[in-house]
Amino acid sequence: MTQHLKHFIDGVHTDASDGGRMRLVDPVDEKEYATAARGTAEDVRRAVAAARSQLQGGAWSRLDGAQRGLLLNRLADLVQRDLELLADMDAHAIGRSPMEPRMMDVPNAIANLRAAAGWANQLEGRTIPTSGYMGTQTLSYTIREPIGVVGAIVPWNSPLMITTWKVAALLAAGCTVVIKPSEETPQSALHLAALCQEAGFPDGVVNVVTGDGGVVGRALCEHPDVAKISFTGSPEAGRAIQRTAGPQFKRVALELGGKSPQIVFDDAAFDDAVRGCALGIFVNQGQVCAAGSRILVQRSIAERFAAALAEAARQVKVGDPAEPGVQMGPVAKKAQQERVNRYIRQGIEEGARLLAGGVSEPGEGFFVKPTIFAGATNQMTIAREEIFGPVGTIIAFDTDEEAVALANDSEYGLAATVWTTRLVRAHKVAQGLQVGAVGVNCWSPLDANLPWGGLKTSGIGREGGLAGALAFTEEKVITVLLP
Ligand code: NAD
Repeated sequence: MTQHLKHFIDGVHTDASDGGRMRLVDPVDEKEYATAARGTAEDVRRAVAAARSQLQGGAWSRLDGAQRGLLLNRLADLVQRDLELLADMDAHAIGRSPMEPRMMDVPNAIANLRAAAGWANQLEGRTIPTSGYMGTQTLSYTIREPIGVVGAIVPWNSPLMITTWKVAALLAAGCTVVIKPSEETPQSALHLAALCQEAGFPDGVVNVVTGDGGVVGRALCEHPDVAKISFTGSPEAGRAIQRTAGPQFKRVALELGGKSPQIVFDDAAFDDAVRGCALGIFVNQGQVCAAGSRILVQRSIAERFAAALAEAARQVKVGDPAEPGVQMGPVAKKAQQERVNRYIRQGIEEGARLLAGGVSEPGEGFFVKPTIFAGATNQMTIAREEIFGPVGTIIAFDTDEEAVALANDSEYGLAATVWTTRLVRAHKVAQGLQVGAVGVNCWSPLDANLPWGGLKTSGIGREGGLAGALAFTEEKVITVLLP
């Protein structure tokens, strides 16, 4: 039976003002399985008003950090209780194997909530020595105040996990939120909001408005009572958000795309590097911001490595994730399937060698093939643009300096991996890379205590860890004259 999802505003499941409904389609058989409210600017206004009233004398504004931490821990317990349900919601919506969110995304969401529960009571100010005021001694100190109502705008590839990167930290800081989930994946955000109510968060602290980015997302960016936009998604939408939020001097955190290098040196543990590179480009069908899509391999092992990675690609079983043994489902939507095929065609046209996979034939479901190109250059389109699909491009290099230069020759700067057994090389190369995070002999280690974010077109700001919670506060200075 088709489910009809509503917004969650001020603790109530409520329909859209007049925006109608969006269809949610199963990527495996292309059939509608649910609809969601297509929100309007009016829905955003109602949600922001509810969020604002909790900050202005509402029950939430009277809770201290320890009490907020207690609620966050209760919420973590409830997410743990509903782990399978939440994982299955996110997996089904984008055609992903549920094992991945069960093992990675939802545990990470729980860890984010627990870490934030700890930060909630530790957002301390400072006492700062000064030269006094006109010859009189002063005491200057700072306090951390919640930034206000936050608009959290989320993509479809890891919906719950990314929602909690934002929501856990901002709740720890004492903010309130209006979540705008992706058009394709509103379910887990709505369930999380209902769990917030069950945990005891006052109504209005966590609201969800579903709908289109250009309407609901834009209305959040334009709303004068939204103090910060915390966005994860594409650079194109990030730019649109900057244009709207900028003139109001709204705070923004932008977690954008990537074209992340995996650098494999000839002294690397070969099989580990093959496995790591396969994971880095094939997990979640390559629909991962940190996907290790540019695979830079030292020339002396490049042919052998390419053959091994191509074999790993051929071994991936593609199909309906509900069937036993299937490791890779379809990509999330038709446009995504067309995008992946377009890039594969372009790679062939530009002269890269196709070792595994290739363009997928039309059929039911948005399936694509795990694909490996070799003999590529860093100037080819498949090495420069984010494909957001299971397409790895192998580029050979000779020296450490060349590897670092190739890695940095990208408009993106999100993450990188270094595969080597030489300690000094690992540290030196890691330090030379212009990215937000480097994994040495491990692809994209995520942890609730680690900051995450990128440079250049990969975005602005950091989420995660203490830095993530502090980013939802403003530091206020108070100076007292002590005559
Ligand atoms: P997207 O930019 O199309 O959409 C992301 C969200 O922004 C959606 O909720 C969408 O409705 C909304 N949106 C779209 N246009 C908007 C506008 N003008 N104003 C306000 N909101 C708007 O991205 P997507 O296709 O959902 O996700 C894929 C992208 O996300 C990839 O580029 C990927 O690399 C990136 N991503 C980055 C990270 C990271 O941590 N850096 C993590 C996951 C995904």
